[in-house]
Amino acid sequence: MTTTRFAPSPTGYIHVGNLRTALMNYLIARKAGGTFILRIDDTDQERSKQEYIDQIQRDLEWLGLTWDRIEYQSKRLDRYADAAEKLRQMGRFYEAFETPTELDLKRKKQLNMGKPPVYDRAALALSADEKAALRDQRGPGVWRFMLDQQRIDWRDGILGDISIDAASVSDPVLIRADGQVLYTLASVVDDTEMGVSNVVRGSDHVTNTATQIQIIQALGGTVPAFAHHSLLTGPQGEALSKRLGALSIKDLRAQGVEPWALLSLMARLGSADPVELQTSLEDLAAGFDITRFGAAPTKFDEKDLYPLTATYLQGLDFAAMADEIAALGVPADLAAQFWQVMRDNITTRADLAPWWALCRDGAQPVIAEDDRAFVAQAMALLPEGPFDAGTWGAWTAAVKEATGRKGKALFMPLRLALTGQASGPNMGDLMPLLQKIPGRG
Ligand code: GLU
Repeated sequence: MTTTRFAPSPTGYIHVGNLRTALMNYLIARKAGGTFILRIDDTDQERSKQEYIDQIQRDLEWLGLTWDRIEYQSKRLDRYADAAEKLRQMGRFYEAFETPTELDLKRKKQLNMGKPPVYDRAALALSADEKAALRDQRGPGVWRFMLDQQRIDWRDGILGDISIDAASVSDPVLIRADGQVLYTLASVVDDTEMGVSNVVRGSDHVTNTATQIQIIQALGGTVPAFAHHSLLTGPQGEALSKRLGALSIKDLRAQGVEPWALLSLMARLGSADPVELQTSLEDLAAGFDITRFGAAPTKFDEKDLYPLTATYLQGLDFAAMADEIAALGVPADLAAQFWQVMRDNITTRADLAPWWALCRDGAQPVIAEDDRAFVAQAMALLPEGPFDAGTWGAWTAAVKEATGRKGKALFMPLRLALTGQASGPNMGDLMPLLQKIPGRG
């Protein structure tokens, strides 16, 4: 049974990088007919906020990435306490009392001596009395998991064969001095108890994975299949981490990016497969293969979302847009035609409103000094409305006849005079939609 999970920490809005993780896990479950769990990693009570939990759910729902189950780590603290107790009884868990400053000093010394900055396990040498004295002085210590100092190997779904020497990794702290269970332990307990079979996450978690494998084994769980995707960079290969806040799903949505544009891009970016607009999660899942993804950092350019958004909108028939177009105030007898004309001329849905305003109210005309007389002459030849599909052709033929102008010199000043813009829909198509002509009452 394939079970995957997306495990965001609700300490901020989810962004394109998180979406990539969510989508990969979703598609693996979907393709296998398995279970997709949304797991809220909210053990950090101070930084976790309900507002973020709500927004994460709204974002995923908007994208259609629905979950079969939702779990909250904050409701499972007793499970983590049980696991901690089990590790303690096994002798794999020990209390350590170093302050952050002391740890820092140790690290610096090790680095100076050319050694890897690995925790030296000094706490293991403490007698029960020494521990009691330290506890009195400093309060409770942190709890560290005692790694078995062997190589930890796994076959990663993206990175291939990985081997990490546990001796080069510090014994991970699983419980903080204030008693807060840390993600590493919580995640392992959840993955084991929830039967998670596949974990895809960012390559920043590779070392975590090594330690988690040992913790899972210590607790008698089954190690899931791991895959670590590369991290996103900006278009120039620059670190994206600082900009990710501006690339939240929420903001991209507000900017008019369509869900299918985001899904289509993020499901293929960084893989050997081409990015094409897809409009079915089933198709996306069917064509999804984690082994097609590369280990190299993946360049992400938010600009790529807009052509996909435009392509998606172009493909919508009127029925899909009827309500939205009616809400703009487009009269029913013009609505279908308005969509027909505009759909090839918009990047996002938000572009429809200004086009309708232009049709309804008339544009602010743009007329070059040299074209004043010409435009005035042309306007005098423009018939009374309403216009039809033949108006533009007949009018420009008459203007050509009267002025001798042709080609761009004929058409462009007229377009600018009627729309105020150098580009836009075919004028023949646009004319019948114009409710008001600049300069006419
Ligand atoms: N809450 C963790 C994170 O957001 C989850 C990592 C994982 O997938 O295990 O990084």
